[in-house]
Amino acid sequence: MANGNLAEKATTTERGVEINGMLMEPVIDKCNGCERIVSIQEEQYCSSYPQPSMKWRHGACNFATHIKASVDKSGEVKINPIKASKRAARKK
Ligand code: SF4
Repeated sequence: MANGNLAEKATTTERGVEINGMLMEPVIDKCNGCERIVSIQEEQYCSSYPQPSMKWRHGACNFATHIKASVDKSGEVKINPIKASKRAARKK
């Protein structure tokens, strides 16, 4: 989903907040700190994915800007929030 001005594209229907006909679900706790979060009608949504909980279902979200995920030799996903924080600081 493009990161335009989502708040202007959002409509409220009986199903909830929709953007271009896609039902949006609020972000989850693991998303806190991500730069892709946008506020729409006093709720926080992901500008990249309509169902944030699904992006975290099998490990770290690959769109997240606040963490750095890597896979070790055993195939386990490791998350390093410090690396992501340093990367974000360099961009400023
Ligand atoms: S990109 Fe991932 S971590 Fe960031 S808000 Fe969206 S679902 Fe959450």
